[in-house]
Amino acid sequence: MKDAWIPFAARAVPRYTSYPTAADFSPETGEAQLRAWMAAVAPGEPVSAYLHIPFCEKLCWYCGCATSVPNGYRRVGEYTDLLLKEISLKADAMGPHGGLAHLHFGGGSPNILSPADFLELADAMRRSFGLREGAEIAVELDPRTMQAGQVAAFARAGVNRASLGVQTLADDVQQAINRVQPREMVVALIEDLRGVGIGAINMDLMYGLPYQTTQHVAQAAQFAAEMGAARVSVFGYAHVPWFAKHQRAINENTLAGIRERFTQARVAAMTLEAAGYVAIGLDHYARADDALAIAARAGRLRRNFQGYTDDPCATLIGLGATAISQFREGFSQNCKDRKAWAGAIQAGRLPSERGIALTAEDRLRAHAIETLMCQLEVDVTAVCAAMGVADDSLDDALESARALEAVGLCYVSGSVITVPEEARIMLRTVGQCFDARSPALAQQRHAKAV
Ligand code: SF4
Repeated sequence: MKDAWIPFAARAVPRYTSYPTAADFSPETGEAQLRAWMAAVAPGEPVSAYLHIPFCEKLCWYCGCATSVPNGYRRVGEYTDLLLKEISLKADAMGPHGGLAHLHFGGGSPNILSPADFLELADAMRRSFGLREGAEIAVELDPRTMQAGQVAAFARAGVNRASLGVQTLADDVQQAINRVQPREMVVALIEDLRGVGIGAINMDLMYGLPYQTTQHVAQAAQFAAEMGAARVSVFGYAHVPWFAKHQRAINENTLAGIRERFTQARVAAMTLEAAGYVAIGLDHYARADDALAIAARAGRLRRNFQGYTDDPCATLIGLGATAISQFREGFSQNCKDRKAWAGAIQAGRLPSERGIALTAEDRLRAHAIETLMCQLEVDVTAVCAAMGVADDSLDDALESARALEAVGLCYVSGSVITVPEEARIMLRTVGQCFDARSPALAQQRHAKAV
């Protein structure tokens, strides 16, 4: 890592899974706006959906997700019943859309659901929204807490992609993050999934965890490649104990410094690329025959709240507490507080509590950020032309990028900004050049760039 990059790597920046980011959402955009956007979905337009299951059997100390430990199944069962009602409320509010192209169960740990409840939710989505031919149904899994009959239920529900949280295989790191998960457990789950025909296996890995070394990261990346994972995500541990209180269980003195974190991320990239994986955007890797790599080659890669995707849908319906819905016109987030979310649904209301309606300038900047985050390159003039605005509309971003060019984080040639391969993991820092809303706010709310 170049010395000149260190101050930038230490700065907090948004992940830009959306622009504006959730930090800019406000209560002014609530249920009425959400209903108007849902009703306006065009006839025949394919849509996607995300179901948030905010429970885990045990907390991992590194976790930054919206989740909690339910201590028994009663709360999970009650949540499932409410989610079924929300599915029905939202399906009724939708315009005459063309059915689901992607359905994603995330969390938390969706495999905390009993097989029967998972099937009921999947059936309700299928009945209420309809499923398009070839739709992707994906589920995030915690290999430690699989239940008997669960893999068979996924197969019955039509699940065709599973994302396994692996993070690390090193024993001492696993102990320090409260996530003990032997390699054999992951291997057995992959074999079970493949045995029922769920062949597309994604793996999530991490760097920057307590006691984690470069060798540990290389070992986990090698494992993912050996297991033939279709996609691998490599996320840096974001230590934000003021936001995620359980992270206080992690001793800061056991965390790698910025230089070491950078090296760990680079080693993961080199290991995966040497094994034939294609680097996708900031932190994803895909086998060359996977839909994500194909979309990247064809210039169809997208970035949304689930990260990088080949999902072309402009509409994403979020269901469950905290879930975010996305429309061409803006974003709408469900109540974060589970009681408020439940109360709204019981009263027959859509449980939206905040969001944002996009301005023309937001759309312009969002397009530029998404292009850069997906392609590591953006032609600012082309973005302005595509959005029908004057070609100097993003000159402020070009000027900011020139300042980063001075330290080698990007190159600016005419109106084209390019991020070099070695700066890929600092991509968000270059994306921030287009951010007219949250540069100052980002310092407080987001994790460091590396
Ligand atoms: S299983 Fe996943 S969502 Fe649950 S606590 Fe661990 S990291 Fe967080």
